[in-house]
Amino acid sequence: MEDNSQLNDYKRQLLEYAKFLADNKLREKGKVDEENTKRVYVIYARKSTKGKDRQERSIPDQIADCQKVVKDLKIRPVRIFKEKESAKTSGKRSMFSEIIQGIKDGKYNSIIAWHPDRLARNMKEAGEIIDLLDRGKIVTLKFATYTFIRDANGIMTLGIQFVLAKQYSDNLSASSTRGSVHIAKEGKSPTWRPKYGYVVNELRCFRPDGNNFTLLQSAFKMALDKYGLEKIADYLNQNDFHYAGKKIRVSKQKLSTIFQDPFYAGVYLYGSEIIDLRIADPTFQSMVTEIDFMELRHSLKDAYSFRKREVKVQLFNKMVYCGYCNHIMSPGTPQSSGKSKNRYLTLRCNYKSCPSRFDKEIKKEVRGKVLFEYIINFLNSGLKVDKKAYNAYLVEAKETLFEKRGELVLKHKSLCRQLGEADRNIELKSNALANARGELIDKINKQIEGLIIERKSLEEEEGTTKNEITTIDHNIKSDAMSYENFLNFFKNLGNMVKNSDDQYLVNKVIRMVFLNFEIKDKKVTKARLNPMFEQYVKLPSVLQSRGARIRTEDLRVPNAAL
Ligand SMILES: [Zn+2]
Repeated sequence: MEDNSQLNDYKRQLLEYAKFLADNKLREKGKVDEENTKRVYVIYARKSTKGKDRQERSIPDQIADCQKVVKDLKIRPVRIFKEKESAKTSGKRSMFSEIIQGIKDGKYNSIIAWHPDRLARNMKEAGEIIDLLDRGKIVTLKFATYTFIRDANGIMTLGIQFVLAKQYSDNLSASSTRGSVHIAKEGKSPTWRPKYGYVVNELRCFRPDGNNFTLLQSAFKMALDKYGLEKIADYLNQNDFHYAGKKIRVSKQKLSTIFQDPFYAGVYLYGSEIIDLRIADPTFQSMVTEIDFMELRHSLKDAYSFRKREVKVQLFNKMVYCGYCNHIMSPGTPQSSGKSKNRYLTLRCNYKSCPSRFDKEIKKEVRGKVLFEYIINFLNSGLKVDKKAYNAYLVEAKETLFEKRGELVLKHKSLCRQLGEADRNIELKSNALANARGELIDKINKQIEGLIIERKSLEEEEGTTKNEITTIDHNIKSDAMSYENFLNFFKNLGNMVKNSDDQYLVNKVIRMVFLNFEIKDKKVTKARLNPMFEQYVKLPSVLQSRGARIRTEDLRVPNAAL
């Protein structure tokens, strides 16, 4: 089903987002090594068949955990060694000896193991590893359950780990880390610490915390409705929001952290472990849907999303006709934003044989104020909407959204295709560069540079398009505007245009209401309504005219000459 694959896509996006957070955590810990190209890794897994170690993690499990490290760090191991051994004495482990020999021979230089106690089981082996580290024969070691930093301190700590491994073969700290990850993987709280809006029940599961759940859920809704964080924090504080049984004060920062946590959409991030709660704990109740969560991330614009893009709003672009020559007039870019926009926006006819250009009496440049006053006057003159219009709007809104979504999906597909093509071109050129000589080098350098710039803009557009689809999906899923809001919306349109500093909004409203204008003699002489808008409103009597298309001729606007 279309709807299903749509949801899966959001689930994927949510997981990608969680992965991004997890990667950041790893990066902070210094676990992600950017320069691993020269490293040649092998994976080493060991399990004994006798003694206490029998309870240890199985070889396939150890390998799986190591492969996860490999994947996270984007490492390609050249070989996986499996060792089953029964004796605890040194010198018997053939695989271990083979790795050591391979390292001495320079075949490999880095090892991935589950824990230091899997790598070296006695002081002789530990000594060999540390010796090879000191001599630089081993470049680095990675462990699934232990962080090794390759410096003097790290090597010493590793030595201690080896000693510990010998002394306590069921290493306590390791098993507790292992234990807590295991608990988290079942969708449970390893620390018994609840999340906001949730309690931890006796089985360690996260369950809604009654009214606090509902309150925080409303907070998410408010954020989606673009309330400020401060307002939302006030709302929670005034409504007696509790956490872990205690009343707490919710700050903007705290809210911001909550809104960034994919837990509330059902993806639990424990350390760098990503747990899909809907699989791990099927009775878990998400606070928000994946779509709403991603939409919120999009609208709060965190680092994950989305490079800010400067889009100049072209108010009245291709909307205004010159009354003398019937050509499109060009809007001049406002010099400043905010309230002065009305004063500075100008419209001019650039048509070279326009009669207005030869007439000294008629100045060819017109102030945007003229248009604004016309529009505000029109919107404040008492537009009427009724239930019928509202019902039409409901149908139309959904249809438009689906239509728009279809367009965007096609656009997105095409952008992805273009991105793939750009990648292939860059790869071709890089290959060519590898064999190029002389002047060809500079030439290809430039070509690649150009391709990379092109690719970047494609990538940005792809991101924007994806966000637009998210917004539409969010709107499709959300409740439509209520009748009351619908009435208010029309009532307030004039003031919105008059008072808003938001040029995007103003532009949207104007284009929603009007199709185009004609200006002559510094006045708006004709205005054509957007047919979509027209069907919703009963026009005020002054503007009534016959026919499906309404043209308001020669409507004078007060102070138009200013
Ligand atoms: Zn003209």
